[in-house]
Amino acid sequence: MSGASDAGIDGRRGAAPPAQAGAAGLAGAEWVDTFPACVAGRWQWLGSQFRVISPGGQPSATVADCGPAQAAEAVETTVRAFEDWRRSTPNERSRILRAWHDRVMAHREDIARTISREMGKPITEARGEVLYAAAYVEGYAEEARRIYGEAFVGAGSDKRHYALRAPVGPVYAITPWNFPAAMVTRKAAAALAAGCTVILKPAEQAPLTALLLARAWQEAGGPPAALQVLPARDPVPVSAAMFADRRIRKLTFTGSTEVGRLLARQSATTLKRMSLELGGHAPFLVFEDADIDAAVREVMASKFRNAGQTCVCVNRIFVHDSIADVFAQRLAAATRRLVIGDPSDDATEIGPLVDRPGLEKVAGHVEDAVRHGARVLCGGHALHGTYFEPTVLTGVTREMRIMHEETFGPVAPVSTFTTEAQAIALANDTPYGLAAYAWTRDLSRSHRVCDALDYGIVGINDGAPSCAQAPFGGVKDSGMGREGGPWGLQDYLDVKYVSVKLAAAA
Ligand code: NAD
Repeated sequence: MSGASDAGIDGRRGAAPPAQAGAAGLAGAEWVDTFPACVAGRWQWLGSQFRVISPGGQPSATVADCGPAQAAEAVETTVRAFEDWRRSTPNERSRILRAWHDRVMAHREDIARTISREMGKPITEARGEVLYAAAYVEGYAEEARRIYGEAFVGAGSDKRHYALRAPVGPVYAITPWNFPAAMVTRKAAAALAAGCTVILKPAEQAPLTALLLARAWQEAGGPPAALQVLPARDPVPVSAAMFADRRIRKLTFTGSTEVGRLLARQSATTLKRMSLELGGHAPFLVFEDADIDAAVREVMASKFRNAGQTCVCVNRIFVHDSIADVFAQRLAAATRRLVIGDPSDDATEIGPLVDRPGLEKVAGHVEDAVRHGARVLCGGHALHGTYFEPTVLTGVTREMRIMHEETFGPVAPVSTFTTEAQAIALANDTPYGLAAYAWTRDLSRSHRVCDALDYGIVGINDGAPSCAQAPFGGVKDSGMGREGGPWGLQDYLDVKYVSVKLAAAA
């Protein structure tokens, strides 16, 4: 392959000292200039590269740009690797995954700094993401030993029937930029635990963290060919090779609904299993019996995490009209106190948005809302670079764009309701169905509301329900399949029915 070499990711060739000028080594705190791809079990520094721009203004990096040649090599590699990996014992897989967890934890500060640098997440949140990402690996190290089948009674007494579980096969995984570590481990750890091999294409805005995770996998003794990472400036050529090849048995995708729909159509040609974790438009219902300060705290935690660039971020806040004014004032007061700054600074709570199109979308939602009569209680403006002021809007109505589209930014739109039935109808008035939240102290209401919400995840008095043990995923336009806990493992397993006919005793 032209321009490729098999130097290690830290710039070393085997055990030799650093050979690559500018490659300071991923084990240190320094940002390396050039990152390789991880294809066919080798670190490949390709002739073609693309730039990863740091939205927080830190030095950018270049990374190998994979195309059809690397995709073809990766497919052949993963198909061969699958034949070995599927035969590894659950205990072996568990041990390697456990060691992977330990290596991720050993590199946690490097990984957190890389997340923060490549997509602008405040460093304290990035550290939290690494722990969240590592928890998936640890969880699947345990789940790897818990792949159960069933024996059941069939039609005749001369037969024995079993439903076994078998790995689906080589998996193609596509991840977004907003959780560059957790979205990788949530998929890859579950797939690897099930006995599948993985080709991962990380988002072009933030591909570097995935490479650090692959390095940690190899350090842990994971077969290099079982987890390949193909960064690509243009996702289409690499993906086209995967969709065309029926030996790739599953697509797992996290990203926008629009792209998910496109990929589902492309997967149909070779009838791949699919898990699609797509966009959200989360409502937060605050009932009249709410502890207002606690509700404000939960909305803050959900809305402003990652500067609002989270699929489960609150995007529509509905407050009972008897408490709406006081709620909005307190929310605005808390929002004004958020510390905007350099994402590498420990004090920063709001960093930049990932890129200019992201900023333009957020600014567009605010302008549109104001044009249609919304009031800005705080914020409302773009700042330098891709920063946007944390914003609270009131008087938000149904015809505004912000009530229909995912904002993916630090804007909290508040509107009101009068009855419980109205609140539920407003919350469900969207094609999305990922996460929804409600704040109430009424036990019966909390259960009624929970039953009525058409969402995959419901937080009652809890603005941050995600954890590695839980089933994460949505309904309707938010996708299909679940990641996390035992549910996430099942998405990488097929049911194999076995029927044994017994001969009569001689
Ligand atoms: P995106 O859909 O633009 O991109 C996601 C990934 O898809 C990237 O890796 C990108 O390179 C790839 N991609 C884009 N077009 C493609 C194509 N034509 N063929 C193959 N691959 C293609 O989304 P994004 O902007 O990176 O991420 C934000 C979106 O992700 C939001 O909608 C958010 O809600 C969603 N998200 C969902 C979850 C979840 O679990 N439901 C989690 C995080 C993010």
